[in-house]
Amino acid sequence: MIIKYDHLRSLGKKPFKEDPSIGKKASKKKEDNKKKEEIVENKGKQNYKNEIIEEKYVNVKEEKRKSKNGSINNLISTNRTNIEGDESDIQFKNQTSEKKIENVNKKNNTKDKEGENNKKGKEHKKDEDKKNEKSKEKKKGKGKLKLAYENKKEEINKLEEDLRKKENKIKIKISKENIKEEKLKKEKEDLKKEKELFDNSFKQKENELNEREKKLAQKEEKLKRRIEFNVPPNSPPILIGLNNIGATCYMNASLQCFSNTKKLAEYFLFDYKVDKNKKLSYEFYNVLRNLWKKENNNKSYSPTSFKEILSKENPLFKGVAANDSKDLINFLLERFHLELGGKKINKKNKSNNNKNSIEDEIGNIDQTNESQMLNYFFDNFKEKYNTPISNFFYGILETKSQCNLCKIIKFNFQIYSFLEFPLQQVNQYLASQGKKPLLTNDGRNPDVDLYECFEYNGKIDLMTGENQMYCNKCNKLNDSLFSTSIYSGPNYLIIILNRGKGAVYECKVNFPEQLNLINYITIKAIAVVYELYAVISHLGPSSMEGHFVAYCRNRIDNKWYLYNDATVTLCSRPQQYNDGLPYILFYKAI
Ligand SMILES: [Zn+2]
Repeated sequence: MIIKYDHLRSLGKKPFKEDPSIGKKASKKKEDNKKKEEIVENKGKQNYKNEIIEEKYVNVKEEKRKSKNGSINNLISTNRTNIEGDESDIQFKNQTSEKKIENVNKKNNTKDKEGENNKKGKEHKKDEDKKNEKSKEKKKGKGKLKLAYENKKEEINKLEEDLRKKENKIKIKISKENIKEEKLKKEKEDLKKEKELFDNSFKQKENELNEREKKLAQKEEKLKRRIEFNVPPNSPPILIGLNNIGATCYMNASLQCFSNTKKLAEYFLFDYKVDKNKKLSYEFYNVLRNLWKKENNNKSYSPTSFKEILSKENPLFKGVAANDSKDLINFLLERFHLELGGKKINKKNKSNNNKNSIEDEIGNIDQTNESQMLNYFFDNFKEKYNTPISNFFYGILETKSQCNLCKIIKFNFQIYSFLEFPLQQVNQYLASQGKKPLLTNDGRNPDVDLYECFEYNGKIDLMTGENQMYCNKCNKLNDSLFSTSIYSGPNYLIIILNRGKGAVYECKVNFPEQLNLINYITIKAIAVVYELYAVISHLGPSSMEGHFVAYCRNRIDNKWYLYNDATVTLCSRPQQYNDGLPYILFYKAI
């Protein structure tokens, strides 16, 4: 019992030392402690019971001593049973208490362990918590950062979105601007094109207007010139001579004949388009203006400028050497023709037409076909005609040549600006034909009739010896028959009476004032009958010496005048011109 007691005591006295470390977490142990306290209380109660039992035991001992009876024993036994009952009760109670304590201890142990574990776990937890806290904090920080980051990101996204929207808007604006720009560009281009078109049409109109103005100015000029130079019918003639500026009589006589070639003079006076670059025609125009000035106090004019340019343009007429009117007329007609827009034409004259000079140009044309040759001629030479000069002075010659071997006839057509008749050959030809003697009874050269010259012109020559002609068919030079005829006559027919070089072939020439060439011209519709209007006569021992004068019908009164350099005098009859030697005859078609 004592042991039990001691044991209980020891058990009960077992102090419950509180672990300070646990105390901190007292709240969590409170329940345990309460239980412990209850246990302690129970132990206390037990102790108190035990004390009471001890007292009772003492009392029983004393009662036993007092009554040495069975009653005591009974009492003791009852007490004992009571005690035993109490003891068993106590034991039981103790046992339960011990069990409880054990359980409590166990619990405490486990709790301690748990506590330790908890402690450790708690420390760990603490650390972890700390870590967690830290991490939480970190996380919190991170979270905050993340949040901030997210917010920022969101903000940025928003901004980006806004930017995108703005960008899109700008893009749209730009594209709209581009479209506008395109439109503007297009409009500009259209305007430019329109402007160009307008400018072009404006320019065209301007050019047209300028052209019109020019034409009007030209017309005005022409009108002015017409008024200035046109002389009404029955007006007194304008008679102005040309001063001799150094052996220039051949030139003066030629210029006076041209000046009285009505259409030529009127063309230059009224219609000629003034062009100083066309030197000779411009100079001729100036000469004419001086020769046909209405209110002119001067009786003569010095063609100095004309002569200067003439000398420059053709060295043949340079200096003061006496020259031939024929050369000058030939040169002037050709030069005027070229300066007025014509082309060079291969001309042929009766005197040197032995060889077919344009044969090279013919090519594949069948020369034996007359109409084909004529077509070829017109097709190829048409453009060369179209000048006032060609219109006034050019006619067409036709040549025929027949090979004496194969008898093939070749045809050819040529331009001529004058006909030249060698008077001596004419007389010789006529004598050979038995139509006149070579010399007259008094030893002179027979007179030549102008028609005889045309007869001579149409003669058939036998081309032999060095004059043999090339035959394409025989492919060699052969004796041939050759003839020239006037295919068509010009408006102004110039006839040169060639008196030979050196010694002049002296003979009278009967030239009619009216020349009818019906028997000598092929095409009769254009010009057949001619009227004489000017003559150049040569006075002197040879063609290269002496003096040239011109007899001309005045353009205004149509009367004959002798133009002898500076002096102009009226003459009565054309036959008078035979006082000298008629050299060049000017006929106009009527
Ligand atoms: Zn032949």
